[in-house]
Amino acid sequence: MKVKLLRVTEDGVDLVAETAKVSGSLSEQSAEEILGLITENDYSSVLEHISFTFDISEISVALSRELLEHRVGVSHTARSTRYNEEEGFGYFVPDELSKKQNFNANLAFTAAMRNAKESYKKLRRLGVAREQARYVLPLALHTHYVVTMNARSLINFFMLRLCVRAAPEMQALAKRLHEICVAEYPDIFSRVGCRGVSWGVCPENEVRPAGCPFKECVPTKSEVKAKMKNQK
Ligand SMILES: Cc1cc2nc3c(=O)[nH]c(=O)nc-3n(C[C@H](O)[C@H](O)[C@H](O)COP(=O)(O)OP(=O)(O)OC[C@H]3O[C@@H](n4cnc5c(N)ncnc54)[C@H](O)[C@@H]3O)c2cc1C
Repeated sequence: MKVKLLRVTEDGVDLVAETAKVSGSLSEQSAEEILGLITENDYSSVLEHISFTFDISEISVALSRELLEHRVGVSHTARSTRYNEEEGFGYFVPDELSKKQNFNANLAFTAAMRNAKESYKKLRRLGVAREQARYVLPLALHTHYVVTMNARSLINFFMLRLCVRAAPEMQALAKRLHEICVAEYPDIFSRVGCRGVSWGVCPENEVRPAGCPFKECVPTKSEVKAKMKNQK
């Protein structure tokens, strides 16, 4: 997976503060104080004025489909399998199918990729158009993606995709994007994590996995609700 930041809004903290001041309050506070108020109290609509464009390559088509699930404040552009030859395609190898973790599973997976390549090539040799031949391509196929997201939609993305329940390839991408966002705008992104970390309460309830690193310090929503019920 390769991730590159193509563009980011410059002077975003000042822009957000100027924008927030339009509402009529907040005239006395500094830009940093206003940003603190916005991020802490989740007055997030003004964060939509900051946007990031990422170039993401060597990710699977499966991951690109999951990216597309993010609909609001997000612009997507993907490599076309209609206009590009895919004869020598690269592919994503999931951890459990790696040689290191499972030699036999890796053999089966590698054979499937080889068959897909051979079938694609054969169809092309038979004169089948790319847009038809592409139906034999696997979900693991590497693709190239450009995505633009505003800071508010990125926060929503991180809350969902930094969660240990997200698919491993998606978690890896979310971590990379999060690192970039923290480096650009630490005051907005450094306290953002999965929903449990961001909110202090985890909505995953009973499906929260045993491996969740925040299990001890972040309660689930149902635990908090049970406490609230007891207080009535
Ligand atoms: C662990 C995990 C498992 C998942 N499993 C599946 C699965 O099995 N199948 C599947 O299809 N998806 C699955 N998803 C994707 C998930 O359902 C969301 O589509 C995806 O995470 C995008 O989130 P979103 O809707 O918040 O983002 P966006 O589309 O960017 O929307 C942002 C916010 O805008 C609001 N919004 C957006 N669209 C509407 C609307 N039409 N009406 C009202 N409000 C709206 C919501 O408040 C939403 O949170 C999974 C996601 C995760 C993290």
